[in-house]
Amino acid sequence: MEKVSFNENKLIVAILFGAIAGIVSGWLFGTAMVSVVWIGELFLDTLKMMIIPLIVAAVISGVTSLGDIRKLGKVGSATLLYYTLTTACAVLIGLFVVNLIQPGNGVEQLSQDVPEAVANKAETGFIDIIKSLITPNIISAAANTKLLPVIVFCLLFAAALTTIGEKNITIIRFFDGLNEVMMKLVIWIMTFAPIGIFALIAGKIGEAGGGIAIKNELLAVGNYCFTVILGLTLHFIFLFIILVLFSDRGRKYFLTLLRALFTAFGTASSSATLPLTMKCAIEAGVDKRSVKFVLPIGATVNMDGTALYESVAVMYIAQAYGITMGLSEQAIIFITATLAAIGAAGIPQAGLVTMLIVLNAVNLPVEGIGMILAVDWFLDRFRTTVNVWGDSVGAALIEPYLPKVNSLKK
Ligand code: ASP
Repeated sequence: MEKVSFNENKLIVAILFGAIAGIVSGWLFGTAMVSVVWIGELFLDTLKMMIIPLIVAAVISGVTSLGDIRKLGKVGSATLLYYTLTTACAVLIGLFVVNLIQPGNGVEQLSQDVPEAVANKAETGFIDIIKSLITPNIISAAANTKLLPVIVFCLLFAAALTTIGEKNITIIRFFDGLNEVMMKLVIWIMTFAPIGIFALIAGKIGEAGGGIAIKNELLAVGNYCFTVILGLTLHFIFLFIILVLFSDRGRKYFLTLLRALFTAFGTASSSATLPLTMKCAIEAGVDKRSVKFVLPIGATVNMDGTALYESVAVMYIAQAYGITMGLSEQAIIFITATLAAIGAAGIPQAGLVTMLIVLNAVNLPVEGIGMILAVDWFLDRFRTTVNVWGDSVGAALIEPYLPKVNSLKK
């Protein structure tokens, strides 16, 4: 029988307690809980502080540990295949539940204005996503936590490093060491997760006006929320099943990852959760090379929850406007939602903006976003949890594709 260690257990229980206490006190005490927002922000900032040094160290140390660039090719293709296939499955599940439940049928409150959150962003398109891979200024990208170009730079840097012979040893050791230090810091930070997650959740519910206000918001679009959460739950289970089928992991892996999953729920950000996701996956025994390679990239591009959510949201808007989405339109939603999710950053509510790509592709009014805006912060937490779970399952499944020996470090 798989067992989870005593210390892990204590922390999992404490985090669970923190999350539940956060929901209950935010619900009951409402705006009074705004007073704990700063504690949540402190925890969030501590996690964010880790992101850039951790990603740089992890990606460079991860890629160089694979050996030469040809080996990177095999792991890289397996990883990209996993990201794409699971994201596509997520969209299919989303389309399935939204067609089944039809939450938008008969909904009347159509909004007239383009919400501020997405105003001026209507031009966002695929070219922008491709352009966002490269930055003219790596320092400014890092300073603004633009992760995609930073990762691309690190991948190129690491690939080049594997080709310069013995001169690379000092540099590789430096990044290996840096990675270990960052992981040590994560252990320290994790101790504060229960209080941090409590404050993040209680503060957010407090800001939203407490239980009654939220209940009213949720009831207004209750069917829609139910459809999104049902789809996300099904996809979560689907990922669990492929984890069990294609690796020797299962329940224990899930339990070990719980701390990261709760942090994802609390922060609504895959990127901010990344340090914990990496730490938990390593604790669960996943090969460090897989963790360092799959998770930082996954936190930035692999967003199953976001893709599923975008497909449901777009179909919901179409249903509410009484616009029929036939098979060809749904095929367009399938492709664009998969790609738009790749373009979404791992930060709160990023999916709302890239959803414009999907809406534009099937000629739906951008104003439709106004109907779902009020509950987006809430659904964001669920989809972020699924995003992080998708990355974590990926790290476990990619393990067998790693080269057997670490040629550069022997
Ligand atoms: N908040 C999500 C994440 O960080 C992205 C989104 O769907 O808005 O993973």
